[in-house]
Amino acid sequence: MTAPDCPFRGLDSLWIQVAGLSCNLRCAHCFNASGPGNREMPALSRIDVRSLLDEAETVGVRDIVFTGGEPFLHPEMVEIAGDTLSRFPATILTNGTLLIGRIVERLAAAARDSIYSLEVRISLDAPTEEDNDRIRGKGSFERALAGAACLAEAGFLPIVTAVQFRGESDPVALEEVEILLRSRGIRKPRVKFLPAFRMGREAERSGGYGEDDRVTTEMLELPGAEQLLCSTARVATSRGVWVCPILVNERGGWMGGTLSESFRPFPLAYGACSTCFRHGAVCANAATAVREE
Ligand code: SF4
Ligand code: SF4
Repeated sequence: MTAPDCPFRGLDSLWIQVAGLSCNLRCAHCFNASGPGNREMPALSRIDVRSLLDEAETVGVRDIVFTGGEPFLHPEMVEIAGDTLSRFPATILTNGTLLIGRIVERLAAAARDSIYSLEVRISLDAPTEEDNDRIRGKGSFERALAGAACLAEAGFLPIVTAVQFRGESDPVALEEVEILLRSRGIRKPRVKFLPAFRMGREAERSGGYGEDDRVTTEMLELPGAEQLLCSTARVATSRGVWVCPILVNERGGWMGGTLSESFRPFPLAYGACSTCFRHGAVCANAATAVREE
């Protein structure tokens, strides 16, 4: 079967894999197999990021998303966030476990000094310590919640993202996560569920994708296909530019050495593309729940 091309509609979001694939956790479902000591993709320097921001400005990027690995393993993450916020709105995707008071205070100061917004997304996969730590590692539940509470105290409205293991839009899981966050002082819980991508370590856990898990030409003609991240985003890393954060560790996801080289359609030939397609725009910030007490 020939894979249909996802058209490239222009670069709205530039994702920056600022810490490479280095992470202080080693989650069982990590689709890019990040972890402690993973040096496959070195971190970007502050100067590298500034050059990317220059290029992003020239091509009309609207917002920047920092990802990893774990961005806060980067020794200059706060400074990089400050550089970015002087020019773009930004989002940082983090596991939250390194968000201690001093870092959060400096991050809040950078956000206060900017006319642009800074969103912080924290990953937490279950509303109980036992279930979460089974996937994300011992101690990660309490440390992530402490990070989220610290952000809330500093005036952020952290978005908590959970990988969906209990079925799509599970209202029970959603309510449980909201209750948990409120109990930790987060008055406006914002929760976003993400699908599990059967890649990286998650492929070992779940068996990966089958031959039939593919996007077809007919599927791509349905409404909503234009929301696929690969139509408006790219990921910059120390190893060049990749089509999307999900395929960063896949050889076929590499698009070129510079942003402009990556501006072309991409054939949706991966099982992961079928997950994106079924779940819509999985990476946007819009939270599934924002309710005030
Ligand atoms: S899922 Fe996130 S926190 Fe977990 S190992 Fe991967 S990059 Fe690190
Ligand atoms: S994995 Fe998702 S975002 Fe990446 S190329 Fe496939 S459809 Fe696009």
